[in-house]
Amino acid sequence: MTRVPPEIEQIADWLASSRSAVVLTGAGISTESGIPDFRSPGGVWSKYRTVYFDEFLASPDGRYEYWRQKCEMHRDFAAAQPNAGHRVLSRWETAGRIHGLITQNIDGLHQLAGSRRVLELHGTARQAACLDCRARYDIEPLVAIFLAEMRVPDCPECGGRLKHATISFGQMLPPDVLMEANRWSREADLMLAIGSSLVVTPAADLPRIAKDRGARLVIINRDPTPLDPLADAILRGPIGELLTVINGVFHAYSGK
Ligand code: NAD
Ligand code: ZN
Repeated sequence: MTRVPPEIEQIADWLASSRSAVVLTGAGISTESGIPDFRSPGGVWSKYRTVYFDEFLASPDGRYEYWRQKCEMHRDFAAAQPNAGHRVLSRWETAGRIHGLITQNIDGLHQLAGSRRVLELHGTARQAACLDCRARYDIEPLVAIFLAEMRVPDCPECGGRLKHATISFGQMLPPDVLMEANRWSREADLMLAIGSSLVVTPAADLPRIAKDRGARLVIINRDPTPLDPLADAILRGPIGELLTVINGVFHAYSGK
């Protein structure tokens, strides 16, 4: 085997000995699947104006603009496939190496890669939810209605307001999911924060919570984050490649 950097050996070692490792992922794990992140140049924020939740609730124009943007983004999501990073994390869950995965992503790629214990802090773009009767629907036919008829689809059950099952700015995070994410973080002995700029709370608070309770913190991200000073190890580089190397070392250790 070629020489592996000592931080990678260290992380593989921590992973092998951990009893309750938790992973937090952000948009950076999905850029290698062709889904742009928010803050990088060309990312979502440089292209669209934000439709806040209040505007969505109050105004038909706001709802139209929201659906227009979401349907345009849908193309990236619908075609995307999990990449090496998603696959490694799914294998770690199957092997009992990680307790679960908390994600800020809404693309559903962790589940497509086979991860089962996933907490989606910001919901999922693969479904729509009715704000009035709470019914949920597969997103595909609704996107098709919008694109064919250029109108916002109504809830088939109650005629109410349909929105992607994701959390908009100004909208509350699902309290049960957030509570569970907090619990996992408190009980973690190792947290890997992967592909998140760690500036959006409450997700960005989770590594701090884990650390306060004595967990080791590993940050894997291309750019620096505000939590870097807290980290026990930091890897900068492409996520898919780095996770693949850690996985290789980890399996070499455990003889699997
Ligand atoms: P972010 O855009 O703020 O940060 C992504 C980070 O990933 C950046 O710091 C960047 O340096 C890093 N990165 C990007 N590609 C990388 C790669 N290949 N290897 C290593 N590092 C890489 O994303 P965020 O912190 O997740 O927060 C933005 C919000 O946007 C989230 O709340 C999420 O809901 C939403 N979002 C989701 C998706 C998705 O579901 N795929 C995409 C865009 C935005
Ligand atoms: Zn309804």
